[in-house]
This record gives sequence, structure tokens and C-alpha cells, in this order.
Amino acid sequence: SDVRFGFGFDNTYARLDDRFYARLAPTPVAAPQLIKLNVELARSLGLDPEALTTPAGMEILAGNRVAEGSEPLAQAYAGHQFGSFVPRLGDGRANLLGEVVGRDGMRYDIQLKGAGRTPFSRGGDGRAALGPVLREYIVSEAMAALGVPTTRALAAVTTGESVYRESVLPGAVFTRVAASHLRVGTFEYFAARKDTEAVRTLADYAIARHYPQAAAASQPYRAFLDGLIARQAELVAQWMSFGFIHGVMNTDNTSISGETIDYGPCAFMEAYDPAAVFSFIDQRGRYAFANQPEIALWNLARLAETLLPILTGDNRGEEAAIAFATEALTAFAPQFEAARTAGHRRKLGLHTQQEGDGALAEDLLERMAANHADFTLTFRRLCEAAASQDNDSTLRVLFDNPAVYDTWAVAWRRRLQSDSVSNQVRVDAMRRANPAFIPRNHLVEAVINAATEQQNFQPFEDLLDVVTHPYDDRPGFEPYAIPARPEERVEHTFC
Ligand code: AMP
Ligand code: MG
Ligand code: MG
Repeated sequence: SDVRFGFGFDNTYARLDDRFYARLAPTPVAAPQLIKLNVELARSLGLDPEALTTPAGMEILAGNRVAEGSEPLAQAYAGHQFGSFVPRLGDGRANLLGEVVGRDGMRYDIQLKGAGRTPFSRGGDGRAALGPVLREYIVSEAMAALGVPTTRALAAVTTGESVYRESVLPGAVFTRVAASHLRVGTFEYFAARKDTEAVRTLADYAIARHYPQAAAASQPYRAFLDGLIARQAELVAQWMSFGFIHGVMNTDNTSISGETIDYGPCAFMEAYDPAAVFSFIDQRGRYAFANQPEIALWNLARLAETLLPILTGDNRGEEAAIAFATEALTAFAPQFEAARTAGHRRKLGLHTQQEGDGALAEDLLERMAANHADFTLTFRRLCEAAASQDNDSTLRVLFDNPAVYDTWAVAWRRRLQSDSVSNQVRVDAMRRANPAFIPRNHLVEAVINAATEQQNFQPFEDLLDVVTHPYDDRPGFEPYAIPARPEERVEHTFC
């Protein structure tokens, strides 16, 4: 029986009423082939990796077989895409198989992405191409290894079918694991329909699943909003501390659990540039690197609007609710700034909090931007520089004009001296804040090309191994640590 796979499905979302989803099974694919199973993640979810790699297990991961206990469905949601409201988006190519409780006691969604058409597909084919599946696999697992809240990659399967984009591409199905797939857009879907009862149901569901402490607060919905604001402020600060650009921060891609979700045209930047945009569709730079906190706040404001009818918990009226929501949203900026400054202190190796720490970091960033210094490598080499100024030589040359680094380093070293912490402790801590390896865009592109054009998955395996050990020093892995040469550089990413 299916017990061997270890899916102890317990599907709370499927127990909500049918306003929240459309029930349907994934559409089978022609010839599923397992590309990758995340064995460690499978085990942590109580699944049996051996059983999942059998043909029957692979059929579940391809959507060809509905496992016992799975109650497959497509979730309804709306969303603001690039600022414009779309009242009905929903899972157009995703299928929520169900929920499992992991060994950590937390509940997780298991979702197939690319599982076929649904009532929310509009003009889409319901499918995913292999390239974006591999990108999401690599980048989401890299984020997890960096310590950033994120959805996870459980498996990737090729379908033996073609998908038709700008060119004909191999199809794939991705198995995604998330604390949940609730989005700001899920609330917007019901608020737009003036279905206050559904908004309340959803808020109660989100509180029970993600913000249980809010249930005991005097104003549970306000506590929920406060909690989400805090998580998003922390999340975006973490993204930025690694040079990450999400690329499509639409409200339907903003998670209620506070995880990074929906890796499309995302990118880690190389040369530091606060205006960096990679997504080909983001022509106006709405989702540029430095805009991300402002956009997160904008998205949170859209969520707060959906909660207005229930926010105060009594009938004090809309004006009172708006004042209440505004007060909650006001907390975002200081929380983001505090998280960002704390992150900068870790990156610079500062162990006490001093006035001027934020400015010291901003000064370095400005010099990096003006001198096209590689973001990841600058901070990684700063770990060595913290040990001794004799180690500055490989760092300073990352700046067009190395003297610009030298003058900053004088102020930095003076600041380091005011902390009483041993060099070893400082350097070790810095090396856990400043990764050596991030999924560089040209390496991800090379992985996708090898897999798509030659069915060669070795580059995928190799890059995945490197980026899931981001803080290790690995002799011989220099090609993974250095920026793209000019002719290798990826200027644009696509969904
Ligand atoms: P995304 O840009 O991936 O966040 O998706 C935005 C919306 O488009 C969501 O409702 C998706 O389900 C839908 N969508 C994206 N790609 C497809 C596809 N190939 N077929 C059907 N729907 C899709
Ligand atoms: Mg999306
Ligand atoms: Mg997507």
C-alpha cells in the first residue's frame, strides 16, 4: 500500500469549504523520469526516499498517480501584478497534493508545480519547462542553506513531453514544500468579492497555522498583521544581505508564512548596484534590488486592506480600522532598518552596537557600487581582511579603484578595535554571515543549458552541492566563487 511512501497526509486546507480551491487531480505526463530527489528533506518530512525513487514513487512526483490520503486541489488567489489588480489568478499550473507534519512537528504543504491545467489556467498550458524547474531547485535550496526562510525543493521530474515557450523545451514537474502556500493574494481574492466571512476564515486559518501566539492576543487579527509585517521586514533584510533580487514581488508571490516563494526571474547580483534589475519583464525596475523593502510594505498594505472589516474585532467602523492598520504598517520601516543594520554588523564583523555602524556599512556599499565590486566576494574576502590587513590584496582589487577600499578599511579597522573580541571568534562569525558561494547567474544558465540541450545533469548536481554548502571553504572550487567574465555575464532572467 501507499503507506510505504510515508505521506501521512492530513489536509487542513482541503477541509475548508470549496470557495477556497478547485478539487482536481494532476494531469498525467507521458514518460516521467526522476531527475532529483531531496533525500534529506524527504526524511525530515517523514517520507521514505527509497520508496519515492521506485517507479510508483516517481509517478506520484510526476502527478501520474494520486497517493492514498492526498486530496489534490488548485488554490484560489488573486494578486497585484506590477501594481495592477487581477481578481482571479490561482494555481494555474500547481496542484496541492496535501499536507504532512514533519519530524520538527511543523505542517508542510506538498505541491506539484507544472502539474497540468486547472480552472485557473486561463491561456496557460499548466506546465513548467525544465530550465525554470532546475533554477527554482537550485536557488530555493541555496536560500535554505544560507538560512533564509524559503519554500524547499523536494523533487524534480522530467515529463517526456515538450512545452512550447519561445522555443520547444523539455517539460518538468517540480515538487515544492512550503510552510503553506497562503499568499497576500489569497486574502485579496475574497476581499475583492466582499466575502468578509471567507477573509475571516482565512485569517483564522493563517493564525492557527503560522501565528498561533496571535490567537491569544487581545486583537488577534492585528497581532497577525503585526507578526507578518515583522517576518516580511526580516525576510527582505535577509534577501538584501545576500544581494538577492526576487524579481516578481507581486502580492500573489508574497507569502503569509514569511517564506521566500515563487522563484522566477530571481537573481543574486554580482557587481553591487542598488538599481539592479534582472527580470526581463520588469522593464520599469519596479522590483529593483533597493526597491524591495518599499514593495514589501506596499504588498503588506494590500493585505491590511483586506483585513479592514475584521481588524478591530468590533464595530468601530472603517476609519478606526484604517488608523489601526496604518499604525501596524508604520512598524515596518524601523523593523526593516533594525534587521538590515543587524545584518550589516554581522557582515562587517561588529560585535557591539555603536552609533555609526549603519553608516559605515552604507559607506562601503556606496564605494562598492561606484567601483563595481562583486557583492558576495567583497564580503567573503572581508572575513580574511578582518584577520589581518596583510590580507587586503585580493579584496582591494575587486574595486575599480582599490584606493577607495583602502580609505574605507582604515575606518573599519578603527571600529573593529573598539570591540573586545578575539580575531578568531570574529572571523569565524563573519564566515557564517558572508557566503563564499551563491548561485551565480551564469552558472545557473550553464546548468540549464547542459540539462536542456544535452540531458546532462552533472552540472546541476555539482552546482547544487556547492550552493548548499555556501559557507565552506573549498579548495579547487574557485570557478564557483568568482564573478562571470564579461562575455559570460547574464543581463536578463526570464520566468
Ligand atoms: P507566476 O508569475 O509564476 O507567479 O504566476 C502568475 C500566475 O500565472 C499564477 O496564477 C500562475 O498559476 C499562472 N501561470 C504561470 N504559468 C502558467 C502556465 N504555464 N500555465 C497556467 N498558468 C500559469
Ligand atoms: Mg506566483
Ligand atoms: Mg511562478
